[in-house]
Formats: sequence, C-alpha cells, structure tokens
Amino acid sequence: GSHNAVLSGMLAAEHVAEAIAGGRANDELASYEEAWRGSDIGKDLRKVRNVKPLWSRFGTIVGVGIGGLDMWLNTLFGFSPFGTLKHGKADYATLEPASKHQKIAYLKPDGVLTFDRLSSVFLSNTNHEENEPVHLIVGDMALQQRSEHDVFAGPSTRYCPAGVYEWVDKDGNAAADPSAKDVRFVINAQNCVHCKTCDIKDPNQNINWVPPQGGEGPVYQGM
Ligand code: SF4
Repeated sequence: GSHNAVLSGMLAAEHVAEAIAGGRANDELASYEEAWRGSDIGKDLRKVRNVKPLWSRFGTIVGVGIGGLDMWLNTLFGFSPFGTLKHGKADYATLEPASKHQKIAYLKPDGVLTFDRLSSVFLSNTNHEENEPVHLIVGDMALQQRSEHDVFAGPSTRYCPAGVYEWVDKDGNAAADPSAKDVRFVINAQNCVHCKTCDIKDPNQNINWVPPQGGEGPVYQGM
C-alpha cells in the first residue's frame, strides 16, 4: 500500500507538471486515471480487486478463503471466475445508529505493545501551520450534532487515527456520555495525517477532506 501510494504520487506529479507545461489549468487530469490503471499499481490492484467484496459478502473465514483462491487464479492465470465484483454499498452507508449496538469498552494502551493515538501522531511528525486554510470542511454543523453525535455516538472520535475530532463538553473535556446534548465538535486539524478516512466514513458525508496547502502534513521521509 505505501509503495503504491508513493508511486501514485509520483505519477500524479508527472501528469500535473505536464499539464502545467502545456498551459492547462482548471480541467480534469483524465490521463492520470488511465495512466495509473495501466501502470504497475493498476496491475497490482487488479489481482486483489475481489478480496474485500468477497470478505464483506461471505465473512472472514469463507470470504477470505475464497478471496485467497481468487488472488491465486488472478496471479497464475490472469483470470477470475467472479469477473470484477462490486461492493454492496458505500462504506459510510454501513454505519448503523448506536442504539442498535452495545458500547465497546476499548482496552487502554499499555505503552509496551499498544500506544495511545497522540504518541503515534507525534512520531508521524505531522505539521500544519496554525493559520492554514481549513482542509477539513464540515458542511453542516447542526447535522453533525443532530446525527453524527446524537444518532451515531460520534464515530469520528474513534475512526480517525490521529484524534483530530472530539466532542467536548462546556469545560473542553472529551464528552464521556454520547447522549449528552451540551457538547461541541472540535477539529484538531493540525494532527491530521491525511488518511482520508473521514471523507469516506462520515455517516452523512458531511465532512469533506481537501488537500492542505502545499507540503503540510506528515513528514513522510522521516517516518
Ligand atoms: S484525513 Fe484521516 S487523520 Fe485526517 S482528519 Fe480525516 S480521519 Fe483524521
């Protein structure tokens, strides 16, 4: 994954540079889409394209087992009896209201094998200027409270690997009770490691991740 992320970044840079040199601006880089699909990245991903849809459909034991067989068929013969499977629904649409589930009591990090999120964010060396233009945009804050918090119990506080999102009480402390009403949404954008999970996982598609101003984010070369 990391290898392909680097390669796709290099490919994007080449196509952007070519477009700028050609005097283009504000149009779609359609050639980039074709290029990555035809590159080693596309060939690599094509072999594994059915694994997650099979996993979602048939569960861990059967789905991953068939997924393994499918990868071998793709690797050895360049063929899958399934063709290309689609996901049943978008990732955000798989979230269900908190009232349908038991609250999970997560174990506290032990500092030996498991670590708290902010210590790991520190290691990523992520850096954003304090007055940077906002790169995590919440479309409708009232909807965020009414639905993301009140109905779904604030999943952003758990799915974000960098602890960017918090629901806090009037004293600024993390709200322990998901049903509490007197809370506000805090976005610690300076911690963002640009995984884009919020963009695909927010149940209302109310959070829009956009690229931050040039060069800001994790210091990848130091990781
Ligand atoms: S992009 Fe990832 S790290 Fe950044 S706010 Fe969204 S979920 Fe958190």
